[in-house]
Amino acid sequence: MNELRHLGKLCPYAGECPVYQEEILIGKISPFLIKNVFCNRGIKGWKNCERFKLAETGQAIPATATPYQQQ
Ligand code: SF4
Repeated sequence: MNELRHLGKLCPYAGECPVYQEEILIGKISPFLIKNVFCNRGIKGWKNCERFKLAETGQAIPATATPYQQQ
């Protein structure tokens, strides 16, 4: 079922992800750009996201983690 979950373009964690929900802003990079580079791009984008990597490996995700850093 894990593969099926990856068929859509939107990250499966988007609903609860504070980056996607724009509760965490990343410097001056617009949320629109972040979403296009990582979240709305299917596995090609998600696999580059540090938050996604933590979630997929069952690790706790620090509140301050972003697509660029795990801490
Ligand atoms: S790709 Fe990363 S930043 Fe985007 S919704 Fe998924 S976990 Fe959050």
